[in-house]
Amino acid sequence: SVASSYRGRFAPSPTGPLHAGSLVAALASWLDARAHGGVWLVRIEDVDTPRCVPGADQLILQQLATCGLVSDEAVVWQSQRGALYQQALDALIASGRAYPCGCSRKDIEAALQARGRVRERHHAAVYPGTCRPEHGGLQGKTARAWRFWLDASAGDVAWTDRRLGPQTQNVATDVGDFILKRADGLWAYQLAVVVDDAAQGITQVVRGEDLCDNTARQILLQRALGLPTPGYLHTPLVRGANGEKLSKQNGAQALDLADPVAALNQAAAHLDLPGSSGSVGQALASWVGAWTFGAGPARP
Ligand code: GLU
Repeated sequence: SVASSYRGRFAPSPTGPLHAGSLVAALASWLDARAHGGVWLVRIEDVDTPRCVPGADQLILQQLATCGLVSDEAVVWQSQRGALYQQALDALIASGRAYPCGCSRKDIEAALQARGRVRERHHAAVYPGTCRPEHGGLQGKTARAWRFWLDASAGDVAWTDRRLGPQTQNVATDVGDFILKRADGLWAYQLAVVVDDAAQGITQVVRGEDLCDNTARQILLQRALGLPTPGYLHTPLVRGANGEKLSKQNGAQALDLADPVAALNQAAAHLDLPGSSGSVGQALASWVGAWTFGAGPARP
């Protein structure tokens, strides 16, 4: 059940302005928080600095405000929270759950080929474990990145999405020992998001379905760090005319907020909500009242 001391969040990466797809996730997370009498936070996920666009954070906050979506507590920027991520990495190192890796992309490809494992197109390579402590560690190579050591207990990770129902993933065979801190010194999304969701006391994660397959990794990290696992609700993706999901990477248009109620209505339609007219505040209030998304059993 969804806890009564509900705390939710919207966590955009400032790689560009909000688009129609990101508004669906923002609106869903806000409505879910309000419908449960909870707190809603905005967190700017700007750890991947090369992909961030200067000013996009402020633009996103403005766009949200135009849609009546305002963080209940001070907005946090991940770029200012490196000390927290370092603490978590230190804890994982101390408990033997993180190890340094000296492999370049080429090293990984070569190791996979030597084992006859051809990497599938569009699929990131499963890390072959070359620098695992039990394989002798760095063996003279320089540490480039830090990886999460998936121990034998990892197995199949099972969890239940409030819309999609039961999910399972074997992170070891699907992903491998994933990166916590990148070779370029940047914190990986997986570590930052797990640390922040816990630090901010998030009880329900509501986000786009494109992020669904990160969940098992995040649950394993939560367990390794002794952190609680929140509930998860992944919202439907918005597809463009070409059938591709909308994303900043494939050039989705920034939201047209000349008429915010119209933009909100479009987002609401993806969440099975009825159309609503009137002011932004009236529309939001009517949807809080109608909100049952992710409450019932998963639809087929
Ligand atoms: N920052 C991520 C994104 O914009 C979302 C992370 C999350 O909600 O867990 O895609």
